[in-house]
Amino acid sequence: MLIFKISSDISRYITELKSAGQSVGFVPTMGALHDGHLSLIRAAKQAGHISICSIFVNPTQFNNPADLERYPRTTEDDILLLTKAGCDVLFLPSDQEMYPDGVGQHVHYDLGDLEHILEGKYRPGHFQGVALIVDKLLAMIQPDALFMGQKDFQQCMVIAQLIKQQGLKTILKCMPTRREADGLAMSSRNRRMTPSQRSLAGLIYQCLVSIQTKQDELNFPVVQKECFELLTQKGFRCDYIELADADTLALLDNYDTSRRMVALIAASIGDIRLIDNLIV
Ligand code: AMP
Repeated sequence: MLIFKISSDISRYITELKSAGQSVGFVPTMGALHDGHLSLIRAAKQAGHISICSIFVNPTQFNNPADLERYPRTTEDDILLLTKAGCDVLFLPSDQEMYPDGVGQHVHYDLGDLEHILEGKYRPGHFQGVALIVDKLLAMIQPDALFMGQKDFQQCMVIAQLIKQQGLKTILKCMPTRREADGLAMSSRNRRMTPSQRSLAGLIYQCLVSIQTKQDELNFPVVQKECFELLTQKGFRCDYIELADADTLALLDNYDTSRRMVALIAASIGDIRLIDNLIV
């Protein structure tokens, strides 16, 4: 696996790849890699692309400085995992490389309502930071396809909007969520859980499944309340348990089988905030 740290170097390398007729599949990450990330690398390779992964813990998308501080950083292990997975290229830039003028002043992206609902509401500024870093990375890598996880459903929608607004040719592939045996969505944050927190964390997925399965018998507010009570009783703090239109993310008061729906949950256990979603 080739490792680049300087953007002009990787851009030059990619220009050479493309002039040799190869296509590029890109997987941006913040490291502390797990099988969810690796599934995106595998998908890029299976689609016949040269697979390029980036690892960069992006300061501008953290609304909470303590969360940025304690975000796991495991670069050496990540390099081993990527090598084993057959990743072709790793981009490992420094803060200075991605933000040569500092992180203070930047562009504002028009993300519409996506910026203010769900994650946007609870993490003000988060999606501006995500849009900024992905915009910069797409300019450097110019991938044919961008592989992201459905685990971050709203993020996929933000990036789809960014690609459209900027008129980019990159195709966004939003790939299925990889889960642990108890249904917990794989996440870099999971490794910070204590064994007792970990034993409860699968409840989030169970709640999503109950929202999915109870739609024929109950109204959504009833299931929402059941889930809220269960999670709260077990010690979670719930930011939201919502049902939304899966195409627009407009929040729904009740099940509406004429639409494609998605259930979304954000809840913290201790100081670890987990998000997950399921198409209903
Ligand atoms: P992150 O390192 O958390 O920024 O995630 C990098 C990419 O991996 C994003 O596109 C995530 O949506 C995706 N991802 C994270 N967790 C999973 C998972 N459990 N399954 C599939 N993709 C995931």
